Amino acid sequence: MKAPLAETLIATLSYRLWTKVRPRAIFTCCTVALATAGFACNAVARQAPEAAAVAPPHQAAKATHASNAQLADPRIEARVDHILHQMTLEEKIGQLAQYNDTGDSPTAQTADAKPAADKAGVIVAINPVTANHLDAMQLAATGRMGSMLNTIGAARTNTYQHLAVDKSRLHIPLLFGADVIHGYRTIYPIPLGLAASWDPGLVVDLAHMSAEEATTAGVRWFYSPMVDISRDPRWGRTAEGAGEDPFLGAAMARAYIRGYQGDDLSQPGRVAASVKHYAAYGAAEAGREYNTTDMSEITLRQVYLPPYKAAVDAGAATMMSAFNSLNGVPASANPFLLGKILRGEWGFNGFVVSDYTAIMELLNHGIALDPATATRKAITAGVDVDMMSHFYDTQLPELIRTGKVPMSVVDEAVRRVLRVKFAAGLFERPFAEGAEVTAAVAAHRPLVRKAAEESFVLLQNNNQPDGAPLLPLSSARKRVALIGPLADSTAEMVGAWGGAGRDPDIITIRQALEERAQKTGGTLLFAKGTEIETDSKAGFAEAVKAAQDADVAVLALGESNAMSGEAGSRAYLDLPGNQEKLLEEVGATGKPVVLLVFSGRPLVLDWAAKHVAAILEVWFPGTEAGNAIADILSGDVSPSGKLPMSFPRAVGQEPLYYNQFPTGRPATGIDLSQPPGGDSRFLSRYIDVPNTALFPFGFGLSYSSFSYQDVKVSKPSIPLSQTLANRNAPLLEATATVTNTGSRAATEVVQCYVRNKGASIEQPVRSLKGFDRVTLAPGESKQISFHLGFNELSFISILNSPTMEATHYTVWIGGSSLADQEATFEVLSSSHESISTNPRSVIANIP
Ligand code: BGC
Repeated sequence: MKAPLAETLIATLSYRLWTKVRPRAIFTCCTVALATAGFACNAVARQAPEAAAVAPPHQAAKATHASNAQLADPRIEARVDHILHQMTLEEKIGQLAQYNDTGDSPTAQTADAKPAADKAGVIVAINPVTANHLDAMQLAATGRMGSMLNTIGAARTNTYQHLAVDKSRLHIPLLFGADVIHGYRTIYPIPLGLAASWDPGLVVDLAHMSAEEATTAGVRWFYSPMVDISRDPRWGRTAEGAGEDPFLGAAMARAYIRGYQGDDLSQPGRVAASVKHYAAYGAAEAGREYNTTDMSEITLRQVYLPPYKAAVDAGAATMMSAFNSLNGVPASANPFLLGKILRGEWGFNGFVVSDYTAIMELLNHGIALDPATATRKAITAGVDVDMMSHFYDTQLPELIRTGKVPMSVVDEAVRRVLRVKFAAGLFERPFAEGAEVTAAVAAHRPLVRKAAEESFVLLQNNNQPDGAPLLPLSSARKRVALIGPLADSTAEMVGAWGGAGRDPDIITIRQALEERAQKTGGTLLFAKGTEIETDSKAGFAEAVKAAQDADVAVLALGESNAMSGEAGSRAYLDLPGNQEKLLEEVGATGKPVVLLVFSGRPLVLDWAAKHVAAILEVWFPGTEAGNAIADILSGDVSPSGKLPMSFPRAVGQEPLYYNQFPTGRPATGIDLSQPPGGDSRFLSRYIDVPNTALFPFGFGLSYSSFSYQDVKVSKPSIPLSQTLANRNAPLLEATATVTNTGSRAATEVVQCYVRNKGASIEQPVRSLKGFDRVTLAPGESKQISFHLGFNELSFISILNSPTMEATHYTVWIGGSSLADQEATFEVLSSSHESISTNPRSVIANIP
């Protein structure tokens, strides 16, 4: 449901989802209610101090360390003090107010008599309380606006910035934020696809590249990375994160921060990151967008928080508070998340921005009956900047006057914002820098092409009658039928957040394959076959004919961009529309079929897995989509991606994830393909589908093959006292020898999993604790080692803090979460007695 004004802007300026429009329902409802090297796969991270009792937010902010040293610099503090003392209340509140440049409130368009063109220039949004439109230029010139989102292009950012810097009384620069999630102009794969590369070094380079592009347009703040763990692909935003695993998620989170911010935020080409959506948004019940999350504190700390913490430890300058509630308290007014954990335990010293209208949505959550209460709850919980609710600017003056919000709370929020502005060098260099990047950059294409190639996961590659697997395509298959609604699409190649990417810059599959066919003397037959979502079979006959005339059929099927990302929840996870039917009819020709799957999430590919020879998951690959796919189909590059999320057999298995807890009635070692009878019935299982994933976490094929030998640990046991003494030192090493057993050089992602048994709290059946990308020549072997220390081996205790006990560990090293070669070791207490089997120790641990 897009408003005409935003549509005009999208068309005119070729912007993608930055100019998205919020559904009228939200507004109506609310107004009526009146919101690389440094990236070792098992690097030791700082642990949170022991949990303390819940303290009020400003007390909890007294952490023992600061997460970002630059923001703690006394020289910056002196500058902040100097300016803060001169600020009026109105100017202070201005720093906490953020406006959207596009005027994207549907209400605004009906309530305002001004012509749309005029609004696009000066009106930024409607104030939902007073129904007044706000003139962004005037706000900038009077110091009543601290930051903007969706201000696109150097001319525009510079215009606003000149008003703030030249005209406003204290000359405080604006901070321009944007959803640069997987590229600014040169677009790379969606974050879920990038996670499939298991290559944090690559992510550092891509993130840096996008920061360099966007700063030429004046953007100095990215609403990225999205680090929400997602175990349920019905949730559309799985596309924006790194998938289901906290260890992989944390590695990716660190990489994005490093790539955006570097060592020094003030350097040209660097941007402040906003880590989102804090916290546990990915656990939305039933995978339904914006829905409630409810979980134990142990699960929160063990599964959901690690990527946020990794980003904070890496120096993230800002965080975004989430839309969802957690255990009944909305994340955007949650003192436990924002005060106790984020600022208290983690020492986060950047600022927190609310998600879009999240403060206003506190009314809908029902924890505030009026905007004043919503404002008080959000700011005292620790949300510093109000994105688009326009509650802080309208409510805070009265709340301060009546003493309901202490001035010190506002001062502290303003300090946090100013610190980031000083650290980012905005006072010295407020404007867009360098030649503005207005199209995909030729020099960046090789990097995004490589990223796309690394993100693809080869799910299936069956042998053909000649004994060879279908992929790479043999040069004897001269006639290729390219079929499907995504085969010649530019717009759909970029995924949910295409930044400022432009359609003409995108290489489609058809373009790339046609170019290759011309070079090699082959023939490309193209037929769209069907639309992404339709019942019409009008194009089927042409597609079937193309397949009949060809030596192989390549089908490009899957979701549209809009089917994942924000507000993209799905109850069915099949190929949309009648695409599977098309696949069936093309398959019935008897010609070998390669299925390219475009999706922002795991799909149910059960039928395809049974009937199609080769399946390549390509997510949404970005600007170089076609070339990267052609590189893989031709065999110029061997696939190396591994799944960051489990692919289910049926949607009813969701949430399905590999690191599940054990049950008292495990269903292992029985034939789950048959309905159970007798003893096999009363087990933790379904009667109609196996428990296992169709394609498990960590899985992905290559054009070569790999074997694993000699999985070992360096010690059979470790004293418990040693594990607790130095939490950052490696305790032991796990090693394996991996060999390329195929006939071509290829890259394997070696994975290390751990299980801890015998602890006072049950632990997952296995958890990822290390990974490494290794490239091997044919026949080459290499020993791969993983350091395991407290960070990898500890678990969250009943006291909600990381701990170790005298327990038994199994370590697996292999090429997926099904790795079957293992080694074991023990952690021993001084009496050689397991603490967790000693009832007194267990009781001593219970508060
Ligand atoms: C999304 C955020 C995004 C923000 C600004 C919200 O609707 O949840 O991820 O950063 O809008 O566009």
